Amino acid sequence: MLRKWQSITLWKRVLIGLALGALVGLSAHYLGGEAAINFVTNWIYPFGEAFVRLIKMLILPLIFTTLVVGVIAMGDPKRLGSLGFKTIALYLGTTFFAVFLGLISGTIFKPGEGVDLSNVDPALRADLAKTATQETPTISESLLAIIPENPVAAMAGSDLIPVIFFAIIIGIGIISVGEKGKPLADFFDSAERVVMKITLFVMELAPFGVFALISWVMADVGLGIITAMGKLALALYLACFVHIVVVYGGILVRTVLKLPLVRFFYGVVDAQGVAFSTSSSSATLPVTISCAKDNLGVDDSIAGSVLPLGATINMDGTAIYLGIIALFAAQALGIDLSLMDYVLVAITVTLTSIGTASVPSASLFLAFAVLGVFGVSLEQYTLIIAFIFPFDRLLDMMRTVTNVTGDIAVACTVAKWEDQLDEDVFRAEPVH
Ligand code: ASP
Repeated sequence: MLRKWQSITLWKRVLIGLALGALVGLSAHYLGGEAAINFVTNWIYPFGEAFVRLIKMLILPLIFTTLVVGVIAMGDPKRLGSLGFKTIALYLGTTFFAVFLGLISGTIFKPGEGVDLSNVDPALRADLAKTATQETPTISESLLAIIPENPVAAMAGSDLIPVIFFAIIIGIGIISVGEKGKPLADFFDSAERVVMKITLFVMELAPFGVFALISWVMADVGLGIITAMGKLALALYLACFVHIVVVYGGILVRTVLKLPLVRFFYGVVDAQGVAFSTSSSSATLPVTISCAKDNLGVDDSIAGSVLPLGATINMDGTAIYLGIIALFAAQALGIDLSLMDYVLVAITVTLTSIGTASVPSASLFLAFAVLGVFGVSLEQYTLIIAFIFPFDRLLDMMRTVTNVTGDIAVACTVAKWEDQLDEDVFRAEPVH
């Protein structure tokens, strides 16, 4: 039985976990009553939480070792500059399309039109107001924060950007020392292999983790989203779907890479399943890296450097969402937007998506920066987020799927440009 289960390819097992989890959660929500929902929360959800903890446990060692090994593999710090430039250009380029799509989708579907904001829970609103009023850092503060004063503190706080910076510096240091740096290079090489192996073990648990998480989400919120925020969900899911298929699939994979689309989607589905159930790009990172390397043939040096950066700054699903939320708020509050407002919203959405933390619901709490562009007050903003928050998880799932798919599509493209993509692996038939 166990062997039969393991002989099914992982992405199929993840999908089975998702489908069964949704079924169990929805049955608990609609048929089982309070007792069944409590059962899912107290007895099934902890397995999902354990899975998330296991992958979170791997994030730091994985980022650190893959990045150091990645930089060393490049051999020349100058290559790092050109790689960084290509990566950031692609990340920004795809985000540009995302913002555009979000604004179009929000204009077509008009998700905020006719929305009744009067029955928002006042307690929730007061709670969210506390988060909203937290000061946002200035640009120079954000840039300075990239350099860790204390790398160990950055690691302990899971502050990914300074950790990435530190790992790159260590890698450059090892290259610059030459022969004498070899033992350290070997150490990191061996450490990376060990961490990757553990990641593969943990991924075997993905179907069960995904099952537990999805059943908990569904038991908690049910399909209420369809009626409560149907148009908002439709606008987001459709725009994300179009972005994944057209921008990543059509433009990057088919046109730039000239590789088969179906293979790409087979290759990313494990990461998508984990992103959908955890709503966190950084929690998905170990799986994202393993998909890019093992399923799509992206070389270690590219996967190790492009993907950790992508998980922290490349958020196209989030950009789509913020654009839609801006229009949702304008429509719900009856504010007319000028062309200039649209342009400013687009710029702010891009910057905000880069600054969004890769954890559940992060962007909803940063949306104030975007709404402030067209004069939404803090009062009105808390009304909007308190309205959306209870259902945000289901919206977050789709934007996180988009975020990680984008990271992998960009990693494949950069790998191809750097001649570091094993196309035989990319084109290979899935085993089962
Ligand atoms: N949950 C998203 C992510 O981790 C970020 C967000 O849009 O809230 O990618």
